[in-house]
Amino acid sequence: MPTNIGIQQEPCSDTTLDIIAQGRNLIDSGLKSKLWNTEEALQKRAYRKCYSVLLHTQLAGLGGERQLYYFNCLRCADYIEQCEDGRLRSHYCNGRLCSICQAIRTAKAISQYLPLILSFADPCSLTLTRRTVTGENLRSTIRQMEVEFRRIRDIARKKYNFDCLRKTEVTYNRESGLYHPHFHIIVDGKDVASFVLEQWLKRHKTSAHRNAQEMESVEAGNTKAIQKLFGYVTKLVTHIEGKSFLVPVECLDVIVSALYNKRALQPYGRLIQAGRETEEVDDADSVAYEAPHASTIGNGILGKWEQDAETWVDQRTGEFLVEPLRGKNVRPQQPIPTTIWD
Ligand SMILES: [Zn+2]
Repeated sequence: MPTNIGIQQEPCSDTTLDIIAQGRNLIDSGLKSKLWNTEEALQKRAYRKCYSVLLHTQLAGLGGERQLYYFNCLRCADYIEQCEDGRLRSHYCNGRLCSICQAIRTAKAISQYLPLILSFADPCSLTLTRRTVTGENLRSTIRQMEVEFRRIRDIARKKYNFDCLRKTEVTYNRESGLYHPHFHIIVDGKDVASFVLEQWLKRHKTSAHRNAQEMESVEAGNTKAIQKLFGYVTKLVTHIEGKSFLVPVECLDVIVSALYNKRALQPYGRLIQAGRETEEVDDADSVAYEAPHASTIGNGILGKWEQDAETWVDQRTGEFLVEPLRGKNVRPQQPIPTTIWD
């Protein structure tokens, strides 16, 4: 029986911290004074960390084959260290559902791909779907979809410039208990998009209906139409008759398993070069923000995460690195955001 994870909100979705996570370049270009607000950034990260611990405690509690993977996610950004250059660093888990890593991943993807997508002469968005499937068949179905899309790409690029970014997403349908794998795509050229759609339907005569696919032109500079590409690979909530329900952790586990070792974002054409950098979050992303705690420079660990306190605590003095979130009443009351743009 699926369990409710008992979490009321997903972390706030501001990307400031994550843009700062790309900080070295920003420092070099002299932008740091405009973007860096260490306390606010730490509070947002603390909120994500708090949520991530709740979620991954329950995922690890399933005791399945991914238990170690989820334990690793529990330790994401457990420590904040201040290094000799004065910057704060953490180590990341690279977990698919980790709020901290997803926020960094999103910021990386935006910096890599968005400028190129905004330069498309005739951007067009496509959503390619097929019938929902059971959890058992999810991974093989995604695999088939990827193979079909690659075949379509091979034909399309003989006729067109195939500049495209494809995001794989899976949602869970609480009513049917089935999973819905689909691709969100941005492609340059309405004729290219039409060709891809036509080929997709031709190859999924019995498993995809035209009305379930979406295709629309994107106005130049309209970043809203592109936002679907940069969020989570799944939604953490499901909607029935206007009400929101958290997706049971068992189902999130099925989705994590189906997408294991798969790229969520697949670039084509001109975007391939931009996508050379890995999707993984690693130590190269660990320079998060500059700290005002000059007295601790070079002294090692600055704070250890304590879930009860909802903040990082200095192990020598007992001081909080930032004020606990509950004290600041920063938890959003609105419905759970599903992407960083909400
Ligand atoms: Zn993480």
